Amino acid sequence: MARTALVTGGTRGIGAAISVALRDAGYDVAANYAGNDEAAKKFADETGIKVFKWSVADYDACKDGIAKVAEALGPVEVLVNNAGITRDAMFHRMTPDQWREVIDTNLTGVFNMTHCVWGAMRDAKFGRVVNISSINGQKGQAGQANYSAAKAGDLGFTKALAQEGARAGITVNAICPGYIGTEMVRAIDEKVLNERIIPQIPVGRLGEPEEIARCVVFLAGEDAGFITGSTISANGGQYFA
Ligand code: NDP
Repeated sequence: MARTALVTGGTRGIGAAISVALRDAGYDVAANYAGNDEAAKKFADETGIKVFKWSVADYDACKDGIAKVAEALGPVEVLVNNAGITRDAMFHRMTPDQWREVIDTNLTGVFNMTHCVWGAMRDAKFGRVVNISSINGQKGQAGQANYSAAKAGDLGFTKALAQEGARAGITVNAICPGYIGTEMVRAIDEKVLNERIIPQIPVGRLGEPEEIARCVVFLAGEDAGFITGSTISANGGQYFA
C-alpha cells in the first residue's frame, strides 16, 4: 500500500516540486499551503494532488489539518517541513513582528507539524521527517538574522529529534538548499543574478527545485533508514558546512 506523505508549503516553488516527485515515486501526497488559494487550485488541477489549507504557525490548525489529511489519505508516514517565509531587514531596522513571523513559521511551524505526527509515527514504528532548512541557516546571511536563526534552529531540532526517533524507526534529516530557481529567485533583477549571485556558485548556475525534490525522495525511502540526523547541502558548492 502506498505511504502517505505530507508536504507543507507543497503547492508552490520547491514544495510543489517535492509534492510531484513524491507522487511520482508512488506516495499518496497531501500538499499544505497557507493562503494563496489561486496557486493551490492551479496546482491541484494540474497535478491531481490533494491540497489542504492551514498555517503551520498555528498548533491547533496543524492538529486539525493533519487529522483531515489522515482521514483522506491515511496516517502521515512522511512529513516534509518545507513551508517557509522571509521578512528580510538589516537588524537595526528589523521589527519584532518581522522576527516573530519568521520564527513562528520557519521554526515553531516545524515543531508544530512534527509534534502532531510524532505519536502516529511512533505507533507505526516508521516515520520520515525531512526539514527544508537553508544554506543561510548554516553560514548566516546579512539582512536575515531572523531567517538564519530559524533555519539554524531547524538543524538543531533535526539532530535532537533524530536521536529520539531512532529506536522507533523514525528518521529525521535536513536539506539545506542554496540558491534555487524558484519564482522568488528568478524575480531578482537579471543583472544582480548574473553579476552578483551566480558567480558565488561554483557550478555556475541556480539549482532546480527538482534537485531538492530528489534529495527528499531519497531520504523518504526505506533504503535511507540508516541515515538520520544528517544534513544534505545542495548548493552547487557555494558553502561546505
Ligand atoms: P515559496 O515562497 O515559493 O513557497 C512557499 C510555500 O510555503 C507556499 O506554498 C506557501 O503557501 C507556504 N507557506 C508559507 N507560509 C506558510 C504557513 N504559515 N503555513 C503553511 N504554508 C505556508 O518558497 P520556496 O519554494 O522558495 O521555499 C521553500 C522552502 O525552501 C522554504 O522553507 C525556504 O526557506 C527554503 N529555501 C528556499 C531557497 C530558494 O532559493 N528558494 C533556498 C534555501 C531554502 P501559499 O502559497 O499559500 O503562500
